[in-house]
Amino acid sequence: ACAISPRAIVSDACASYSTLEKLNRRVKPAVDDLTKDTDFFSYYRLNLFNKKCPFWNDENGMCGNIACAVNTIDNEEDIPKIWRASELSKLQGPSAKHPGKTVQKERPKKPLQGLLGENVGESCIVEYDDECDERDYCVPEDESASAKGDYVSLVHNPERFTGYAGDGAKMVWDAIYRENCFQKSSFPHSASLGTSSIADGPAAQDFRNVLQDAERQQIVQQHSQNPSTTFAQTGLENEGECLEKRVFYRVISGMHASISTHLCWDFLNQTTGQWQPNVGCYKGRLHTHPERISNLYFNYALLTRAIAKLGPHLQDYTFCTGDPDQDAATKAKVLAVTQGASSVPQIFDESLMFKNGEGPSLKEDFKNRFRNVSRVMDCVGCDKCRLWGKVQTAGYGAALKVLFEFDNDSEDIPLLQRTELVALFNTYARLTSSMDALVGFRGMVEAEERPN
Ligand code: FAD
Repeated sequence: ACAISPRAIVSDACASYSTLEKLNRRVKPAVDDLTKDTDFFSYYRLNLFNKKCPFWNDENGMCGNIACAVNTIDNEEDIPKIWRASELSKLQGPSAKHPGKTVQKERPKKPLQGLLGENVGESCIVEYDDECDERDYCVPEDESASAKGDYVSLVHNPERFTGYAGDGAKMVWDAIYRENCFQKSSFPHSASLGTSSIADGPAAQDFRNVLQDAERQQIVQQHSQNPSTTFAQTGLENEGECLEKRVFYRVISGMHASISTHLCWDFLNQTTGQWQPNVGCYKGRLHTHPERISNLYFNYALLTRAIAKLGPHLQDYTFCTGDPDQDAATKAKVLAVTQGASSVPQIFDESLMFKNGEGPSLKEDFKNRFRNVSRVMDCVGCDKCRLWGKVQTAGYGAALKVLFEFDNDSEDIPLLQRTELVALFNTYARLTSSMDALVGFRGMVEAEERPN
């Protein structure tokens, strides 16, 4: 009775906001411990610098490259250099070069896919690039480049305010949301995504149809004011859009909401030089858009379920850091998270998706569109934003793979590479900290509104 239908976002009495917040209070310390305090989960390998934006020309001035990212620089001359967007965007902390193909070739055949459950950890051996199979929601990389990945410290590069904004950021979000228009032509293999804006483009009408319906806004508002209301009671199921498309939209909108929450929570006050929460930022981007908050909670339920489902398969995974004590400690921390995520009844029912009506035929389309969203991250013109954009799209991709590519009852073991595992748990960490921040922001707004 407690399973959440994706149809109803986070639907029933078992999964009101307050239920998820309660779960989060239990799970967050374990997630923090895992992602901040183990080498395995605090370094991410990715190709951050060598890939060109595949969707539009970097030279046309409407791009997401670093020059565009700092296109506010003229207005920033009055503030110290260290506070400028270009500086805030820079990566910090240790990063190691990827060994490249020659070293990769020495890798033995057997553990090629980093099988979970086989007492062989991907991290025991040098990681291969480009190992997508047809079940992946990730992006096949360009085979020609020789060294593709760097290891980057996620702890030293927290997701927070960077000042990245303007046309470059707008184009990226616009392109991401345009992938939601399933009925429009699909570009499964990195063709152009077009350039119209969210506000004005063809995508806008679709979103308005789905989300900006006045009655729905009212319902969501009511829900936001009374977090103990359940989603089922709000009647959010009654949208005229098919389930899979709405889930796709909610995943990207929830990811966007989480990014906004972090940049508002860890915001640089350019007058005082202090990093602190910015309530105005929260009100403008989230509080006045309760459906965005609801999508973030939806993502939390989705990832909680994916992590709970993966839990039993991680019992035998070897976290080869080169030190048996560290391996054992890492495993204990992972299991603390998966047990926490499993401590509630199944809170998201993935078995309802891709089943009825046009559902089955949508699966490939859904996957290709999600891959396009991850490709668009190469168009993000701010290093830290691109880093976290890539981590999170890979994390959601891994979660979708666990949920939709592996049957609950099958013997089939989820194939996940180390990078997918790291992305999955760090994306979960993003959501746990967003939920925490949202609770904090809600308290601040209430305090502001309370009569003296
Ligand atoms: P934006 O957030 O750019 O939103 C554009 C439009 O999308 C809005 O006008 C609205 O119509 C719609 N929209 C907004 N939120 C949602 C939602 N949740 N659901 C549905 N529709 C929505 N900046 C940082 O400071 N730090 C970061 O780490 C960072 N990471 C980023 C990662 C990526 C992948 C991208 C593309 C951008 C990132 N940015 C980051 C920039 C940041 O997200 C905003 O683009 C920027 O702050 C400008 O904000 P904005 O007010 O113009 O609206």
